[in-house]
Amino acid sequence: MKTLSTQEYVDGILAGDRFILSRAITLIESTLAEHEAQSFEVIERCLPHAGQSIRLGITGVPGVGKSTFIETFGQLIIEQGHQLAVLAIDPSSQRSKGSILGDKTRMVELSKLEQAYIRPSPTSGSLGGVARRTRETIVLFEAAGFDVVLVETVGVGQSEILVHSMVDFFLLLMLAGAGDELQGIKRGIMEMADALVITKADGDNLGRAKLAKAEYKNALHLLPPHAQGWVAPVLSCSALEKTGIAEIWEQITSFQKQMLANGAIENKRQEQARIWMLESIESALKDDFESQPSIKK
Ligand code: GDP
Repeated sequence: MKTLSTQEYVDGILAGDRFILSRAITLIESTLAEHEAQSFEVIERCLPHAGQSIRLGITGVPGVGKSTFIETFGQLIIEQGHQLAVLAIDPSSQRSKGSILGDKTRMVELSKLEQAYIRPSPTSGSLGGVARRTRETIVLFEAAGFDVVLVETVGVGQSEILVHSMVDFFLLLMLAGAGDELQGIKRGIMEMADALVITKADGDNLGRAKLAKAEYKNALHLLPPHAQGWVAPVLSCSALEKTGIAEIWEQITSFQKQMLANGAIENKRQEQARIWMLESIESALKDDFESQPSIKK
């Protein structure tokens, strides 16, 4: 394939060209030194065009219904005129030598829509590397004109803590009646959530979902309120029956309105940018240290 110039990458991304966007993300994911220099330039030039989306993080254990939810949720917001980009993160894929996410066909209907763009998980790498590439991929998505960016993580590790430091709104999906421990949900993750959603509230499960909703509402009351006074709602939905999905989007937009009005999103993003900078410095120093011939020896 012909190599692209930095100008060609940037023009293509700004024009919303999916093919060039995909190639640019691949460039960013590359660890080759010559690619790194170019990806830095591409990011630098996309940055002024980034920042206008609502950035959503979504997490939950395997099987909670994330892909089914994103499929339904995505179609709904596209119907309302939005452009949605989805990035799935699965840092465990390196360990397991195969992605949890990769072995099934996910979000089939959504991926057919022109207004949706789905990027599968970075195939491997340290959590730090994944974090850097995720932030930069969000920048490219936004420069390409997506106004809703969704970052999905598998709620089994530390990746959700990282993702929380990159998004405006963090959604935690939970099963009814499985218990927090069973779901591997650490208390810290529940505290970070801007909304908690009980999935699969349909059929025989409806009663259990109602009960779980009431229980989590009580549990959340015991937690300290979020900064800027946002109280995380507890909701339920059925992605299969398409119920409760619109309410979730309503909560997200009302959060966005409230946080834009009081400047909280701006503050949050500035703090996130500060963390990004510190992490970049740290990883550059570490790379530099490790590449010294004497250290290598
Ligand atoms: P993920 O691993 O979190 O992405 O979960 P999936 O979206 O793959 O869903 C896991 C299983 O739960 C699948 O068999 C789905 O069909 C099922 N599922 C997902 N959403 C719903 C729902 O709203 N209602 C019901 N009854 N089942 C669901």
